[in-house]
Amino acid sequence: MSISATHLSPVSTASSVVCWDDLVAEVAAVLSPATKVRREEPLGPKTTMRVGGAARVYAEPASEADFAILWRAARRRGISVLMLGRGSNLIVPEDGVDGLVVSLANERWAAFEPRCDGKVWVGAGLRLKNLCGLATKAGLVGFEFLEGIPGNVGGALRMNAGAMGGWMFDIVEEVRLMTPDGEVRTLPKAEMHVAYRHCEELHHAVALGALLRPAASADADAIARQIDVYRKKRQESQPREPSAGCIFKNPPGASAGRLIDESGLKGTRVGDAEVSPVHANFIVNRGAARSDDVLELIRRVRAHVKLAKGIDLEPEAILYGKNWPDVL
Ligand SMILES: Cc1cc2nc3c(=O)[nH]c(=O)nc-3n(C[C@H](O)[C@H](O)[C@H](O)COP(=O)(O)OP(=O)(O)OC[C@H]3O[C@@H](n4cnc5c(N)ncnc54)[C@H](O)[C@@H]3O)c2cc1C
Repeated sequence: MSISATHLSPVSTASSVVCWDDLVAEVAAVLSPATKVRREEPLGPKTTMRVGGAARVYAEPASEADFAILWRAARRRGISVLMLGRGSNLIVPEDGVDGLVVSLANERWAAFEPRCDGKVWVGAGLRLKNLCGLATKAGLVGFEFLEGIPGNVGGALRMNAGAMGGWMFDIVEEVRLMTPDGEVRTLPKAEMHVAYRHCEELHHAVALGALLRPAASADADAIARQIDVYRKKRQESQPREPSAGCIFKNPPGASAGRLIDESGLKGTRVGDAEVSPVHANFIVNRGAARSDDVLELIRRVRAHVKLAKGIDLEPEAILYGKNWPDVL
């Protein structure tokens, strides 16, 4: 059984013969009323890039039990399960996603619970912005670098998000996750394989929450001042328009943004997709960009950088439900 980065369980059936309505009918009979399941849910508005089509089936489980029911039902039918965080590192293809897209948008997943031993339990659906705000109020130091990353905890764990010299897994003690057969387990960080924008275990399993370790305690005003410094730095260096964050990973010892800039590509456009004049590793949506415009621009940027610099840029953003080598 092969599992790819965004397919948490395999599609073994062509979309044309999958009976999506049967999946919805089967789970509707057993899920709690608080769990939402919808057909043909538009995904563009659920992402920061704001492009792309719909999910064949979309669900917001309200409990671990409901999540397990959904996942098992999808598996039985050979349907892919794809997690959706805040959609801030995703490009959704024009034709959407042939699979079950699951979002932890229900409030149940947004826990922030400081513990007596100084650690803090957070749900995978908690927005990083709220994590920063709540940690500041609680006087907990060490989460400030997450300010301005527009994802949630689950997406940040999967991507090992990083900024200002800090990485998500710097602050993780353990992760609670669900495996494709619906089993819930807790893994200590020492047993997880993490690297730059990568967490091996979360290619196969879903993060439900994590135990985080603050670096220290401090006065809330002092923490807020540090967050302001990071916020200002970000505002000066990143575009404001819709984007999916950095499109390419930094090659070892180099900056993808600098390579693109030095190749003279800032401001290059395909339709309303544009290489940001502010930060060359961001492709922004100037208003009416389509997913295909973004993909075509990515192909052009890669080709130009290869020609000018001899370097193959590797995408950091995720092509949702598809594999990059198939479109690049
Ligand atoms: C303006 C802007 C600035 C950004 N700045 C930064 C930055 O400084 N540093 C940085 O690292 N990134 C940055 N990003 C990229 C992005 O915000 C991060 O990668 C973030 O961690 C993605 O989180 P998300 O919740 O939006 O995940 P999504 O984009 O929704 O998903 C990303 C991946 O995680 C998977 N996933 C989501 N939830 C789970 C879960 N619970 N369990 C398992 N897998 C899951 C998805 O299936 C997908 O494969 C930026 C993006 C934007 C738009």
